[in-house]
Amino acid sequence: MRIGIDDTDSPRGMCTTYLGALLAHRLQEEGFLVSGVRLIRLNPNVTYKTRGNAAICIEAEGDEERAFALACGLVNALADLDAEGTNPGVVVASKAPGPAFYRQALQGFCTIDEAFACCRRSGVLFRGWKNCRGLVGAYAAVASVLPDVTYEYLAYRDPASHAPRRVDGPSVFAAEAATFPHTWDSVDPGNNVVVCVPHTPDPVLYGIRGESPSWVARAAGFIRSEPPVCSQIFATNQGTDAHIIPGRAGLLEDGCSYRIAATVAALPETRRGGHVGLAVEDGGVLLRCMAYEPTKGFRDIVRRLIPGDRITLQGSYKRGSINLEKIRVDSLAVHTVLSPPRCPGGHGSMTSAGAGKGYKCRRCSHRAAAAETAVLPRMLTPGWYEVPPIARRHLAKPLVRDPAAVRGQIVQ
Ligand code: ATP
Repeated sequence: MRIGIDDTDSPRGMCTTYLGALLAHRLQEEGFLVSGVRLIRLNPNVTYKTRGNAAICIEAEGDEERAFALACGLVNALADLDAEGTNPGVVVASKAPGPAFYRQALQGFCTIDEAFACCRRSGVLFRGWKNCRGLVGAYAAVASVLPDVTYEYLAYRDPASHAPRRVDGPSVFAAEAATFPHTWDSVDPGNNVVVCVPHTPDPVLYGIRGESPSWVARAAGFIRSEPPVCSQIFATNQGTDAHIIPGRAGLLEDGCSYRIAATVAALPETRRGGHVGLAVEDGGVLLRCMAYEPTKGFRDIVRRLIPGDRITLQGSYKRGSINLEKIRVDSLAVHTVLSPPRCPGGHGSMTSAGAGKGYKCRRCSHRAAAAETAVLPRMLTPGWYEVPPIARRHLAKPLVRDPAAVRGQIVQ
């Protein structure tokens, strides 16, 4: 069977992954065979989400009614039901439904009515609390498919604790040094920040992402911290680009995430707050892209683009602009500038001789009809560039997962 749970937390506490970890342990204690525990991320642009739009799916063998009762009991006991936006859902399916609803919840939007209709049609056991929105994520989780999969080791502390987390930073850097590239994004070396320890009021102590259960467990073994109350390794769609749809400018839907081939249409602009705007063109349609301030050094890549550069970009489309997650520079335009001609008599740059009259050397009166064209070196090479780990979305596939991808280089 598959057991799906979603929407149990609130901005002031809890986390559906914690509830999923407890349920997995409880099922095992009761003699169920638990063969998989999945952390399924859904559309990151859904406004109802508390934090990372996660839902849980547990694969197990045993009595479905009992599993359903255990899951509902845990939701009743632990979900923050008093919080306005907490609307849990639990689904138990005897077998995996088709993946269509999962793909819709991952790449687009679903209504609560659609979730109810799927639950009824497929004959699953289900329960929703309050407005029942959690049924969307719970059903999507049981319908999930993982054609590409990564793993996350999540260590938890007591959910009642709201003290600052005690996780030794240098030990996290040591974990990454010993296990990268098989684990990633525990730290952001470029910005010298520990990334895998949240600052939100939930029971997650830290989370290690990587390519296999053994690698994430090995990395966790390096970490010195307050004692976790429990831990769980999840199979997940994180780091797989599963949210990305091939797109064309002019045909984008708000709240979806796309990969688009385009040409840079104007020089990038740095705006107030350090956000960088980039206008691109695809099939004659202009599209605005943004590299926001939290993407730090990635903005320097965007700032080096010029009109005529061909790029492939990825990111979420919101309020008329793409929030960049990654770009590939496919080809670079020739960067030319016009400058006043040099005097052949060695007197330096000539100056304008007046409107439409070309240039003149003020010392020897040598004349030139037009400015000179100079070709400037480009300050980056073709290839992929990504936002740093501190700004990475859960679903975005880090370049380290794709050794064949050509990496772009900054030219100093
Ligand atoms: P939690 O740890 O509780 O899962 P979260 O950040 O993952 O926190 P939720 O509290 O689960 O966010 O809120 C997301 C809500 O949006 C859930 O009710 C979920 O069912 C719903 N939802 C998820 N994806 C979609 C979607 N694509 N369309 C509509 N609703 C969605």
